[in-house]
Amino acid sequence: MLSKPQLVAVSIFTLNRGNKLTILRDQIKHAFDKQKGRLQLGVGNEMNSALNQGNWLGYDESGIVVAKEWVSFVDDVTTNTCISLNGEVTLIGEAFSTGDFAPPANNPPHPCRSSTRAVFINEAQDLGLL
Ligand SMILES: [Zn+2]
Repeated sequence: MLSKPQLVAVSIFTLNRGNKLTILRDQIKHAFDKQKGRLQLGVGNEMNSALNQGNWLGYDESGIVVAKEWVSFVDDVTTNTCISLNGEVTLIGEAFSTGDFAPPANNPPHPCRSSTRAVFINEAQDLGLL
């Protein structure tokens, strides 16, 4: 993200080199497009985080859900982290193998689309978690 002083510096540099205003316009547009992409990533992950934190809290308070399963949306842009987490089951108070307690996975930074599924007592017993 370019700060205002950086943007001014780029503008002066571009104009001093005799470049046309259209090039400057394109550079400014590119800077804002990158900033918009980062903002969309942040907002999307915050919404995903809020949803999954809410699920986690609901699981914990239910008295019948004892574990959670990581459910990744798997396609050609899914990160290796989310592919490796897909299907992993942990007890409610425990973190997944990456250290995350719930999606989104933050390493690497990406627009995470993962969620969790409730795992009930009998299923957790069958999985050997209890
Ligand atoms: Zn993800």
